[in-house]
Amino acid sequence: MSGNQTFTIIKPVAVKNNYIGPILKMINEAGYTIKALKITHLTKNKAMEFYNVHAGKPFFEDLTSFMSSGHIVAAILEKENAVDDFRKLIGATDPAKAEEGTIRKIYAESMSHNAVHGSDSDENAVIESDFFFSKMERY
Ligand code: ADP
Ligand code: MG
Repeated sequence: MSGNQTFTIIKPVAVKNNYIGPILKMINEAGYTIKALKITHLTKNKAMEFYNVHAGKPFFEDLTSFMSSGHIVAAILEKENAVDDFRKLIGATDPAKAEEGTIRKIYAESMSHNAVHGSDSDENAVIESDFFFSKMERY
């Protein structure tokens, strides 16, 4: 059982395709309260910092270029068992392997353009939330 908060990003291609509303609706309908929300963008350096754990992997360059290629939506989400349930709601990293009805199955275009990010642990949810939001920007 994970803690009660997780962190998400709606990635550039999903923002460009006008999927902010539909994705937030799915998140709300899954029982999450949005505790912080902003449209912003990452510089290449900031994207490299955010995805530091993947530095050196073959997809790192494409991932960080893509994540800094347009506006994103960052959000902190609250609900019991937030991290684990959100990973189920978004589905597998590769949309071809994501279950029917998951956010990635519906809105992702490919493995790299997979619509949303979701924290993989309580610890990373805190680190990622603090990366984007000050105390004044959340409740
Ligand atoms: P997840 O987002 O499901 O936690 P990872 O943390 O493993 O997945 O990877 C971070 C992001 O990097 C993925 O969401 C995806 O956009 C991209 N990515 C991961 N693996 C690949 C890959 N093999 N090819 C292209 N992009 C990838
Ligand atoms: Mg991950």
